[in-house]
Amino acid sequence: MLTREEFARRLEEHRRVESRESRLLALVAVPFGLAQLVMIRWADANLPRGPRLALEGGVFLAYMALVGILIVQMVKRTRAAAPRCPRCRARLEGAEGRAVLVTGRCISCGADIIEQVQEPREPAAPPAPPA
Ligand SMILES: [Zn+2]
Repeated sequence: MLTREEFARRLEEHRRVESRESRLLALVAVPFGLAQLVMIRWADANLPRGPRLALEGGVFLAYMALVGILIVQMVKRTRAAAPRCPRCRARLEGAEGRAVLVTGRCISCGADIIEQVQEPREPAAPPAPPA
């Protein structure tokens, strides 16, 4: 079982991995997509139809393959970083993770995820003497 702080740290780490992977995808997909548009414009002006279509088709398929690989990697890494229930292996990320922070339990199977801290009890007040 985890403390609330450990679980919150794992949620934060998951969020960081998700953010990093999304940035990586955008950093590759956007410039390559724009470069592809420039290349198409150039090919339209400079190449005959046959070679132009082969070049544009090949570059488009390579671009889609690259983006597909990056998306698969992003999903794998993000899933791997998600905290999981030790009993049912449910991923406890996003809203599920926040629910665990509040309840301390897996929302899927109810297993205890966060150890409940025992509040120190105040000693019971002695009974008032009869007046
Ligand atoms: Zn569970």
